Amino acid sequence: MTDTRKSADYILAKLQGVTKMYSQPDHYDILVLDDINLTIFKGQFVALLGPSGSGKSTLLRIVTGLSQPSFGTVLYRGRPVTRPNPRAAMVFQSFALYPWLTVQQNVELGLTAKGIPLAERRQKALRLIDLIGLNGYEEAFPKELSGGMRQRVGFARALAVDPELLCMDEPFSALDFLTAENLRSELLDLWLDDKISLQSILMVTHGIEEAVYMADRIIVLSTNPARIVADLAVNLPHPRNRKSSDFIYLVDHVYKIVTAGDRPPHSPLNLVPSRLQDPESEDRAQLKPIPYGHLSMLSGLLELVSDRGGRDDLYRLGSELLLEVDGLLPVTDTAELFHLATVAEGDLILTEQGRQFAEVDVSARKQIIRRELLNIPLFRLILRVLSAKTNHAMSKDFFTDILEEHFSQDQAERQLALAINWARFADLFHYDTDSELLYLADDQLAEAGDWDTAVR
Ligand code: ADP
Ligand code: MG
Repeated sequence: MTDTRKSADYILAKLQGVTKMYSQPDHYDILVLDDINLTIFKGQFVALLGPSGSGKSTLLRIVTGLSQPSFGTVLYRGRPVTRPNPRAAMVFQSFALYPWLTVQQNVELGLTAKGIPLAERRQKALRLIDLIGLNGYEEAFPKELSGGMRQRVGFARALAVDPELLCMDEPFSALDFLTAENLRSELLDLWLDDKISLQSILMVTHGIEEAVYMADRIIVLSTNPARIVADLAVNLPHPRNRKSSDFIYLVDHVYKIVTAGDRPPHSPLNLVPSRLQDPESEDRAQLKPIPYGHLSMLSGLLELVSDRGGRDDLYRLGSELLLEVDGLLPVTDTAELFHLATVAEGDLILTEQGRQFAEVDVSARKQIIRRELLNIPLFRLILRVLSAKTNHAMSKDFFTDILEEHFSQDQAERQLALAINWARFADLFHYDTDSELLYLADDQLAEAGDWDTAVR
């Protein structure tokens, strides 16, 4: 990047108090973006980092004018953005190519929309196809291309319109490791060499390393709802060395911010306003989302940390378990929920119960999880209902309906599926896929007396 571009500090886009709510069929409004204030300067490569579901794509759509905020404004070069911004282009994770169009036709699309004459269009598309390393494939259809080549078409299409602002929504995450690595460095070359007209890049990612490797600035978003929790400059020179101590330090630093973020792990703060006027039972009123942690992963994680003396750095753990922060957080949230570990300053620290868990056999582990599940409102509710019924069975829909009072339909189904999975592990209740019934078997029922006194 030339010095002028780097030092140019005027504003390309500015978000003021951008707030986005989605209304749900059940009258809840979900607050997705909460008061986002962000200025994007010319010459910057900005990475937006946050867990999935935090609202990154929503924010990107709002910046490009594809979607409007509920409150607040987006200014582009000082003017309010009220429709899709022709000076911004988008690259999608899923490539979003038209299967019935050739590579060349896909690249020409944006130019056609702009009314650029055929000859000029042709020439421009060919130049971009060449630049992005796809020459020879002009007449190919997307299905004949590998994922990496399809994403090259995605880049060429976005760059063909000479955008000032390139928005990318997890553009490398659908690609295999080597292909992604290749494309990252090629895109960086294009950006740094000034071969293209770009003024700024805004890239959504959930990869911390990717952000530190590519961006000049990293914006960290919290989730439920998304707020900006950190705004960091990355001043490392390109090409960046992932093994350098500065790089590792910064990755670790961002990791701490992401894991410590003002994330309210088990509270549905994104539901406004609350509509719990039917507190038939306390458990129903206290329903909170359970984190999407897999128990096998939980066991693996705790064993690993136990081997390390009961405490280890989350970032290191994540990379050893080949997990992005996205994949690791639900597991550490689950460990916290079960009182097996706590997270502090980017480290995972086992509790006494966590140390035990790591050492005992599977049946003892089931006992620990079982005890913990009995304290979680969702499981108490299910057990109460099942033991109150004479046949000790109840349809899955009954519970999804209850959950849908608190969560979106999609989330309600995922929550219940996860609850069933955990309950199976802990032998708390059964689920029959054919009849779609949750039920208590005789031995489970025999123990129901215990839990009933235990939870009351
Ligand atoms: P990310 O890109 O960070 O994964 P998204 O911006 O896609 O997150 O979504 C953020 C939240 O907003 C999610 O909970 C999602 O379910 C919700 N959401 C996104 N789009 C809509 C929509 N059109 N209607 C209702 N909810 C939506
Ligand atoms: Mg997204």
